[in-house]
Amino acid sequence: MGMINKMDVAATQSAFREDLLSGKTAIVTGASRGIGAAIASRLCEAGANVVLCSRSAESVGQIADTLRSKGYTTLSMAADISQKADVEGLIEKTIEQFSQIDILVNNAGITRDTLLMRLKDEDWDAVLQTNLTGTMYCTRGVLRPMIRQKSGRIINISSVVGLIGNAGQANYAAAKAGIIGLTKATAKEVGARGITVNAIAPGFITTDMTAQIPEKNQEQLLELIPLRVFGSPEDVAAGVCFLASDAARYITGQVLQVDGGMVM
Ligand code: NAD
Repeated sequence: MGMINKMDVAATQSAFREDLLSGKTAIVTGASRGIGAAIASRLCEAGANVVLCSRSAESVGQIADTLRSKGYTTLSMAADISQKADVEGLIEKTIEQFSQIDILVNNAGITRDTLLMRLKDEDWDAVLQTNLTGTMYCTRGVLRPMIRQKSGRIINISSVVGLIGNAGQANYAAAKAGIIGLTKATAKEVGARGITVNAIAPGFITTDMTAQIPEKNQEQLLELIPLRVFGSPEDVAAGVCFLASDAARYITGQVLQVDGGMVM
């Protein structure tokens, strides 16, 4: 292929990307930083209207303002996904503003790491309540509008830890494995309604969550990753954007690993 043809292809692809999700409305939970902020930004670039939530209105508002200043349509609000009433409010406000919900990205998550022998009940409860029950609240909440529309995309952020476990993360691994079961059961329930439900299992992604890992351990971890680099939030966002797009219309109930080949 000559140089000009190559450029034509690139131009077509970028034009295609900008309207990949135009006219769609997406909710991204935990969008104030890290992976959630990158997902919100990527969905905006693909043309979606994006509703960003996190527990703090201020931090998520800043991300939404930055996106708005670039000309994208966003709405930000404080919503703690572990609280049913907050999730109901999030969904109501989204419908009020945009009349529809096409894409839900369940990204919000927390860790409370410690060995199981020392795990306090409240640290088990907090991780399960946010990571798993919160994901269920949001998923259940969008089903009615999505069924009415006869279409929808639900993308749950799990983790490779939910597939292979990790010492010191019994609560987190259980919640992330639970998300995979929730994904598959929901995919079976709503497939006939035109709704797809998939999970993404990131490996090590450079964010606030992984910054706490000591440098020595980070080097050991890199040896386990065939691609020899940690992932970026944008790598996860690219997977979300694909699963949210028409290109993924025949994919449901799957777990897409974005982990540099760490787990295979
Ligand atoms: P982060 O801690 O940087 O960001 C988490 C986001 O979730 C923040 O915006 C936070 O405010 C929000 N949040 C937390 N609890 C919430 C609640 N109850 N209600 C609403 N929002 C809440 O984390 P991150 O690294 O960007 O991780 C994002 C997701 O990806 C999480 O589900 C995490 O488990 C998952 N994940 C991360 C990695 C990684 O290496 N960073 C790997 C695998 C999976």
